[in-house]
Amino acid sequence: MMDKRIFLSFPHLGGHEMHFIDEAFKESWVVPLGPNVDHFEHQLEDYIGSGRVVALSAGTAALHIGLVMLGVGPGDEVLCQSFTFSASANPVKYQGASPVFVDSEPDTWNMSPEALETAIRDRLLVTGRKPKAIVVVHLYGMPARMNEILDIADRYGIPVLEDAAEALGSEYCGRKCGTLGKYGALSFNGNKVITTSGGGALICPTEEAAAHVKFLVTQAREPMPYYYHKEIGYNYRLSNISAGIGCGQMEVLPERVARRRRIHELYKELFGDVGEVRVHDNPSAEFNSNFWLTTILFDEKLGFSPEELRQHLNADNIESRWLWRPMNMQPVFADAPFYGDGTAERLFNHGLCLPSGSILTDEEVASVADSVKSFIASRK
Ligand SMILES: *Cc1c(COP(=O)(O)O)cnc(C)c1O
Repeated sequence: MMDKRIFLSFPHLGGHEMHFIDEAFKESWVVPLGPNVDHFEHQLEDYIGSGRVVALSAGTAALHIGLVMLGVGPGDEVLCQSFTFSASANPVKYQGASPVFVDSEPDTWNMSPEALETAIRDRLLVTGRKPKAIVVVHLYGMPARMNEILDIADRYGIPVLEDAAEALGSEYCGRKCGTLGKYGALSFNGNKVITTSGGGALICPTEEAAAHVKFLVTQAREPMPYYYHKEIGYNYRLSNISAGIGCGQMEVLPERVARRRRIHELYKELFGDVGEVRVHDNPSAEFNSNFWLTTILFDEKLGFSPEELRQHLNADNIESRWLWRPMNMQPVFADAPFYGDGTAERLFNHGLCLPSGSILTDEEVASVADSVKSFIASRK
């Protein structure tokens, strides 16, 4: 057993975070908004290369405002990838709308274009109305099949909101995830590629859209001397202190993404001689995952549950995690329609997330692989 616990994805500071926080204190910018927020947004815009960025209090807030901007409201249906974290789907409910879940395809583990088109056609038949939006997720950093998905979305005239919470730095056909749909959501929660201790951002298509998002998330105050409101507002802006952490983190983001990719390469090498373990990988050169988490699938024929492997690793002081339990398998969404063939459910039953934080050493990665291998050997 290792003395030091190996965590799944631990915060990894760059070194200059405190400098930005000190500046905020010196100038008494201990408020939402401020120079760190502006700087952080510009750093993100430079990095992702297109679109306008608004920094927010959480990735979940970004997804919520994305739906608001797409006009999702009571009675609407929103098509949402089923294989994801609940934060992709909950904001649909915040808007009084209903999620319709779409299964994954086995190569990217993300939204199946075929199931998406089936779902759209069937909802048109059943409800007589077009779904209002599509929420597609780049799970574990792996880009979804965006060309096919955007093609279908365009054909039916339905806008796409990308949940890129796990995919900062991932690229699809050379373009950054989060900039491919109409809006894109990022998360800077403690376990993501970079952290602001808690935070998110919405990537917007235009300056005007970004300006309207900024207006909505600061309580929708009209420009009047007294508080005057024509729209429902939100308090979703990122604090200037949290943004200071983000400014420091942005300086090391390319290194952090490179390290996560290197850890994935290491796992591939270490499992190269284990036929029963498959490391989830980019299906072709169009896909360039940040490998936020390296995930594995194990041979169904071995007949064990992910929980057994998780507990074996835990006994070796290694944190691992089940894959996301699909939304169509969650009691809270039991009533929601689902389109698919059970692909995500099969992945859920035969996979695991391995420690992948950029802070991990090569030795730690090797000891994780050793622990998995010893478990597999005991099951053969
Ligand atoms: C983390 C995450 C979110 C939510 O982001 P928060 O910043 O924690 O609100 C949404 N979707 C996915 C897929 C995530 O992993």
